[in-house]
Amino acid sequence: MGMTGRERGGLRVALIGNPNVGKSTLFNALTGLRRHTGNWTGKTVDGAEGRVRAAHGRMTLVDLPGCYSLAPTSPEEEVTRGFLMSGAADCAVVVCDASCLERNLNLVLQTLHVTARTVVCVNLVDEAAKRGIAVDTKKLASILGVDVVATNAARKQGLAELVRAIRRAALREETAKGEAEAAPLWDEAERIAAAAVQRDGDARSARRLKLDRVLTGRFTGTLIMLALLALVFFLTMEGANYPSRLLSKLLSPVPGLVRRLLEKTPLKGAAAGALCDGGLATLVTVISVMLPPMAIFFPLFTLLEDLGLLPRIAFDLDRSFSRCGGCGKQALTACMGFGCNAAGVVGCRIIESPRERLIAILTNSLTPCNGRFPTLTALIAMFFTAGLGALGGAAGALILTAAILLSLGATFLASKLLSVTLLKGKPSSFVLELPPFRTPRVGQIIVRSLLDRTLFVLGRAAVAAFPAGVIIWLLANCGSEPPISACAAFLDPAGRAMGLDGAALAAFILGLPANELVMPLLLMIYRGAGTFAAGGELMHETLVLHGWTVKTALCMTLLMLFHSPCLTTLLTVRRETKSPAWTLAAFLLPSAIGAAACLAVNGAFAIFGR
Ligand code: GDP
Repeated sequence: MGMTGRERGGLRVALIGNPNVGKSTLFNALTGLRRHTGNWTGKTVDGAEGRVRAAHGRMTLVDLPGCYSLAPTSPEEEVTRGFLMSGAADCAVVVCDASCLERNLNLVLQTLHVTARTVVCVNLVDEAAKRGIAVDTKKLASILGVDVVATNAARKQGLAELVRAIRRAALREETAKGEAEAAPLWDEAERIAAAAVQRDGDARSARRLKLDRVLTGRFTGTLIMLALLALVFFLTMEGANYPSRLLSKLLSPVPGLVRRLLEKTPLKGAAAGALCDGGLATLVTVISVMLPPMAIFFPLFTLLEDLGLLPRIAFDLDRSFSRCGGCGKQALTACMGFGCNAAGVVGCRIIESPRERLIAILTNSLTPCNGRFPTLTALIAMFFTAGLGALGGAAGALILTAAILLSLGATFLASKLLSVTLLKGKPSSFVLELPPFRTPRVGQIIVRSLLDRTLFVLGRAAVAAFPAGVIIWLLANCGSEPPISACAAFLDPAGRAMGLDGAALAAFILGLPANELVMPLLLMIYRGAGTFAAGGELMHETLVLHGWTVKTALCMTLLMLFHSPCLTTLLTVRRETKSPAWTLAAFLLPSAIGAAACLAVNGAFAIFGR
């Protein structure tokens, strides 16, 4: 296998395996890195490298995309195959799911044809045991002629033995036979699995089948999915209420305090204003408005992912997406968009057909990302459910669910439109796997969703918030005719036609770096030279003072749902499509939908009165 790592003083180990067999979990356990894991097929779309923890000696792991075979029929398989064939690895570890070894063995056999320096890692042995399935690793090893190690990656069991097996395998003489046809190998896999796997009666699978019938039933599936969504929103909105208020109470005096301190230094005057009333105040609003809902929403969302419910949602939506000329996997990438549209766009790599991938990319930002949720919930609480008392939380969750359904409807419509115009073609068929239900690891979920998602998204927003706040403050405060007022005045006719005003449009344009900036920027534009605080009541007061009514809030909600993707997402679209024209399309599509929806609502209010 070319120049080996032994000569360079460290081993290079390729991790391969079918999707959802626990490869990322194993990678993380061995390297101490935190690669995203999730209980659904196709989420590892790019390769990652990591050094194995020092305790195990010098070794680099390369986590390759999940694939079913080494036949180059999909981009993932192409990547994995290319890597193995290039001889860049000293050893290949094929990770298998102990519960469905037979299907996994096909990839094992193909790998053995490419390299004899192979280790078979039979993972998820705990899951298999629960279902009455036991793999005889010794027997399997003697049949295959390579080391076979049983692991439970989630509990870090069997790792030391795996590392020892890797060292042994890397020392083997290479006797590979070259490539093998995937299709003759099925019979062999079946024979080997029959010899090495023992099963008891499978009461659990029968239960799983029953549960799946309900969860993916046409009516029951949809109902359960909507109920879950509403529940997640309810818990998020109710739970975020108090900590949001507390945070804003604690943090809102900070800009003023810092300003008073700065006034005693050479940085007084406009510089202190820009830094404190601009940058710091925007930062404080972003943190107090965003942090609590995210800290609740992300763990709940990760829980759904870990339980295996996300792919079932995709299954329920598959028919509808296919009817619209898209691909069922688009439901998964749209779900990822809930977290972050840029992540959703990258996730579209799981869709093989280029036509369907483009449809999924262009429509991804029609799903509101986490940066938009806090503004949506704030608008709902301030203008739609304010007088409802104890029922407010439940009503708010229902309204938010309706908003998500609207965005789903827009996704269907836009996909259909694209598939009959720019992106004509027939929907491809694909097999969407339903992964097993797995007991979620609550501690892991909390840590992972707080560190990987909440803090990451918040950090990114905060990085954009401070400079944006400074710039807007300067634009709002320089000269007798500040540029921001001129800009708002220029945009006013268009804003009014859309049921809003020029300031709101200006905030959307200036908030392009991150969606979570739009509301704080709007408040700053409204308040001009004054400081603004983060509190909910003050926000409401400011908006009402500037003529906001239920109609304005409704139009703002619609524009929040449908507008240009943020700058990060646009850059990601550019990178994924390698086309300025498609990037422009990704910008125009949601913007046009948002503008049309606002014009329509404003028109309807003009005709039917308020
Ligand atoms: P990948 O697609 O192969 O990278 O799979 P992941 O690493 O994302 O794992 C898929 C799911 O299986 C996740 O929910 C993991 O927490 C879970 N998992 C991974 N290994 C094990 C294991 O050995 N035992 C159990 N019970 N769960 C595991």
